[in-house]
Amino acid sequence: MAANRDYYDVLGVSRDASDAEISKAYRKLAKKYHPDLNHEAGAEEKYKEVNEAYEVLHDPQKRQQYDQFGQAGMNGQGGFGGQYGGQGFGGADFGDFGDIFSSFFGGGARQQVDPTAPQRGADLDYTMTIDFMDAIKGKTSEISYSRSTTCEVCKGSGAEKGTHPITCDKCGGSGMMTITQRSVLGMIQRQTTCDKCAGSGVIIQHPCQSCHGKGVKTQKQTLQVKVPAGIDNGQQIRLAGQGEAGKNGGPYGDLYIVFRVRPSKDFTRRGQTIYTTVPISFAQATLGDEINVKTVYGDTKLKIPAGTQPNQKFTLKEKGVQSLRGGSTGDQVTTVEIVIPKSINEAQRKALLEFVKASGGSIAPQEKGFFERLKEKLS
Ligand SMILES: [Zn+2]
Ligand SMILES: [Zn+2]
Repeated sequence: MAANRDYYDVLGVSRDASDAEISKAYRKLAKKYHPDLNHEAGAEEKYKEVNEAYEVLHDPQKRQQYDQFGQAGMNGQGGFGGQYGGQGFGGADFGDFGDIFSSFFGGGARQQVDPTAPQRGADLDYTMTIDFMDAIKGKTSEISYSRSTTCEVCKGSGAEKGTHPITCDKCGGSGMMTITQRSVLGMIQRQTTCDKCAGSGVIIQHPCQSCHGKGVKTQKQTLQVKVPAGIDNGQQIRLAGQGEAGKNGGPYGDLYIVFRVRPSKDFTRRGQTIYTTVPISFAQATLGDEINVKTVYGDTKLKIPAGTQPNQKFTLKEKGVQSLRGGSTGDQVTTVEIVIPKSINEAQRKALLEFVKASGGSIAPQEKGFFERLKEKLS
C-alpha cells in the first residue's frame, strides 16, 4: 500500500491541481504502469499506488478530507484506499475507473450497467461523542454497529455450495427488459426491471441456506477506533472497508466516523487555539503577580506584569491543540478579568481611602450602611 506517500506526489500534481489535471495525470500513469502493459518489477505496486491516489483525489469529499488530515490518525485503520490492499483489486472490475479504462483500452460509448458486475458496498456513518480532553489528547474507543457482511458460506453468490447462479433467460443477464405498451400516442416501448430476476440478471436455483440466497448477512461489528489527537467537533475520519458488503464480489464500502465533542467548563476551542479566562484582583493587576493558569496539559505559571489592564490577553505558547497532521501545536490565549470586590472590610476600606489620598484625589463620603448606623445608635 502507498500508505506513506503523498497522493499529490504519486500523481505528480500540485496541491491545487484541478480535477482535470488530476484525471489527466492519472490516465497517463495508469497506462504506464498497467500490469497488462508493463511487466517491469514494481510496476504493479506503482499501479496500485496511482489508483489509490486517484481514488482519493478525484473525489471532492475524500480529497478535502485528505487535505485536512493527511494519513495521520488514520494509519493502522486501513487508511485511504485500503480496499486495494487485498480484495477488490485484481478482478476485472475497476468500479469508478471503468469509464476511464474503456476510454483508452479501446472502449467507447458507456455501456449499460451490468447487474452482475462487482459493485462496491455502501458507506456507513457513525457518530461518536467524545469528551473535550479526549479530542485534545486522542484515545482508543470501542464501537459496535450493524453492517452487512459477505456470506462466508456462498462467498456472496447466494447459491448453495457446489452450485452457481445462472444467467436469467428472460433478460439475458441485463436485469432490464423492454415492454411495449399501448397508449394514446400509439405503441411505446419502455425499459423496466426484469420481473423474473428482479434486476439481478441471475437466477439462483438453489439458494444458500445460510443467507437465504441474499449473499450477505447483517452482523454486529465491533471495532477499536483510534481517535486522533486534535480532532475537532464535526470532523470525521474514514475507516476503509468497514462499511457495507459489496455485491457480486465487489469491495466493502467505508465507515465514516463523525465526532461530536462535548464542551468543557474550563476551556473554549477554536481550531488549534484554546481560550480561557482567569480572574485577578485590582491589586494583582496594579502591582503585578505570578498566578496559576489552567491549561489542557495541567496548571502552568503566568506572569502578570504590573499595570495589567482589564481583558488583557496573554498567549501561552504551545499550550493549545496539536495539529492532526502532527508537527505544530497551537497556543492558549488567556484573558484576565479584573474582579471588583462586592464587599470589603473596614481595614480594606481604610487602605483604599489611603490609596486615593496618596494618588492625590478624594472621594465623596459614602453613606453609612444600616448596621453601621445601628452600631452608632447603640454606642
Ligand atoms: Zn450464502
Ligand atoms: Zn432477468
